[in-house]
Amino acid sequence: MRTQTTSYVARLFAGDLSAFGGPATDEAVAGHIRAEQMSMVLGYSVGIMLANACNAIVLAIALWQSPDRIAALIWAAAVASAAIAFGLQSRAARRITKPQFVSRRAMHRLVRNAFVLGTAWGIVPVAFFDNASTGGQLVITCLCSGMLAGGALAFATIPIAAIAFTAPIFVGIAICLGRNGDLAFLLIAFLVVVYGSVLIRGVFVNSFSFARRVMRQIEAERTVRLDPLTHLPNRVAFNETLEAALKRLALSGEEFAVLLLDLDRFKEVNDKFGHPAGDEFLVQVASRLRRCTRAAEHVARIGGDEFALVMANLARPEDALEIAERFVAAFTEPFRIEGRQIGGATSVGIVLAPRDGTTPLDVMKNADAALYRAKKVGPGTIRFFDASDDRVSRDRKALQSDLEGAIARDELLLVFQPFLDLDQSRITGFEALLRWQHPERGLVPPSEFIPIAEETGLIHEIGEWVVRRACATVAEWPDEIRVAVNFSAAQFHNAGILQIIVQALADAKIAPHRLEIEITESMLLSKYGSAEPVLNALLQLGVTVALDDFGTGFSSLTYLRKLPFSRIKIDQSFIRDMLVQPDCAAIVKSVISLARDLRIAVVAEGVETADQLDYLRQISCDEVQGYLISRPVSVDGVLALLDRKKLRATFAA
Ligand code: C2E
Ligand code: MG
Ligand code: MG
Repeated sequence: MRTQTTSYVARLFAGDLSAFGGPATDEAVAGHIRAEQMSMVLGYSVGIMLANACNAIVLAIALWQSPDRIAALIWAAAVASAAIAFGLQSRAARRITKPQFVSRRAMHRLVRNAFVLGTAWGIVPVAFFDNASTGGQLVITCLCSGMLAGGALAFATIPIAAIAFTAPIFVGIAICLGRNGDLAFLLIAFLVVVYGSVLIRGVFVNSFSFARRVMRQIEAERTVRLDPLTHLPNRVAFNETLEAALKRLALSGEEFAVLLLDLDRFKEVNDKFGHPAGDEFLVQVASRLRRCTRAAEHVARIGGDEFALVMANLARPEDALEIAERFVAAFTEPFRIEGRQIGGATSVGIVLAPRDGTTPLDVMKNADAALYRAKKVGPGTIRFFDASDDRVSRDRKALQSDLEGAIARDELLLVFQPFLDLDQSRITGFEALLRWQHPERGLVPPSEFIPIAEETGLIHEIGEWVVRRACATVAEWPDEIRVAVNFSAAQFHNAGILQIIVQALADAKIAPHRLEIEITESMLLSKYGSAEPVLNALLQLGVTVALDDFGTGFSSLTYLRKLPFSRIKIDQSFIRDMLVQPDCAAIVKSVISLARDLRIAVVAEGVETADQLDYLRQISCDEVQGYLISRPVSVDGVLALLDRKKLRATFAA
């Protein structure tokens, strides 16, 4: 029984709703409720303390004629000065911003103060009633009932404080009335008990509904700051945490780090397995990330597959790195989603404040730049921001916005590099290579703008322009000359690609076999899914397909079985080293003999010297391409190159 009462009182102290028959409240919420209760009480406190001081003075005047005059004076002086001191103290407390959390200790202090004051008033009827004049007794009765009602009102949201204040007054009144034994006094005692019960009951009801209101408000505020899918804090919450960290930085110089994460394979999961699987993936990722952080810090989901963490009070940058490494390691195990095993990875960009920025905008912009650099290196990379990232990312953004209008402004052009057939010493076709004539930067190479076009999706529009222009150009050339066009993996993600190619062939009125499509091995296992169905459809049309940059991918040989390639293009890195590194020569030789068995033609890319050409001829390479034969040339240059006699004279065996 005793332990039950103690626990009940403890819950009352804590602001726990279960003390009122409501749901149990966790400490964070209870602390918030206490903060609200405290702020209400502090709101009244100045007035109440003033009333206390006045009442004490009134009592002293009323007892001026009584034999207890000296004691009453001392009492009044003590109560009035204590009340004034409390009043001033709470006024000062209210000037400081309202806290979000009030500890149990602070609540205990408040209740103790209420009890001390209540006891002071409880002493009055016991000590001064008997010897007071009738008028004095009337004043005492009025003051005590006023104090009961006023206390209940002041502490209407904190029942335990209301009890602590009113109980001693009740006891005082009870002792005083009981001692007297008069029937009228007994009736008064009865009335006081009735009033008191009603008051306390009112306090309980009011404080319960108050606490419920606070809880609902906390709940609403939480929802606004919570990501409904992963239950992590959302962007709103993250921004607040970031602003708070920046405020602490300005006030006390407390350094912090921001970690920005971007999932490396999220889009793929979504595209391949559908949105429900994508959602499940995010939920699992969130639960793994949650386990990586320090107890008081919460990783937030700030975008589709973007997560971020503010690491407060950072002692060493290594601490941020350590958490980032934990994030990356959290993806080592594959995820199990709808019975499938799905691998994932995250890249992390880290910024340190104040070093990398002191405003939310700078911090996030630089975190973005660091993340971008990390992603560029590959999945699972961690990068700290460094000032050059900013320049690179700004430069890239500028390039990207310029690229958007490049086709409309007619800034793109094709150059052509010939294929030389070694057997017949004649040109069999040209590879179309894209160039961007930028008004300020001059000629931008494809290695700089194709990746941007791929990421932004501009590649579809650009790719269509390339294939149309290439087909239209080849139509002007002799019938036996083909044109080879490079394709990006992303282009095969576009369902309309087949139609675009068919249309380009039809518009240019050329036979399909005059168009060759160059794809790289990586496209066959690209993140966009397989290009195979589209390639097969193209092959059926009569278009030929070449495997570009052969040897730079992973398991090259298996792909030769997958599709009926008409050509393999051995990557220039092998050709460059073939005469100095025996293993390169061995690879080139065996690729050529393998291709011959499979009846696939071989093109050697990047032939720059006559020795290389001789060697390739010796080992029966079919075609060569490279600066030795010709650099990529404009449309006008093509016609000059097609002057067969000249070429034959130069490259004949
Ligand atoms: P690629 O398809 O492997 O093209 C060969 C690249 O090697 C070309 O660079 C060409 O100029 C260069 N090259 C040719 N012969 C030699 C040589 O003897 N020595 C050296 N060092 N290099 C030589 P380029 O034009 O800068 O193109 C680079 C890459 O950009 C191409 O590699 C291709 O993957 C891509 N690309 C070019 N045009 C397009 C396009 O229209 N669409 C797409 N998606 N990608 C393109
Ligand atoms: Mg190529
Ligand atoms: Mg190549």
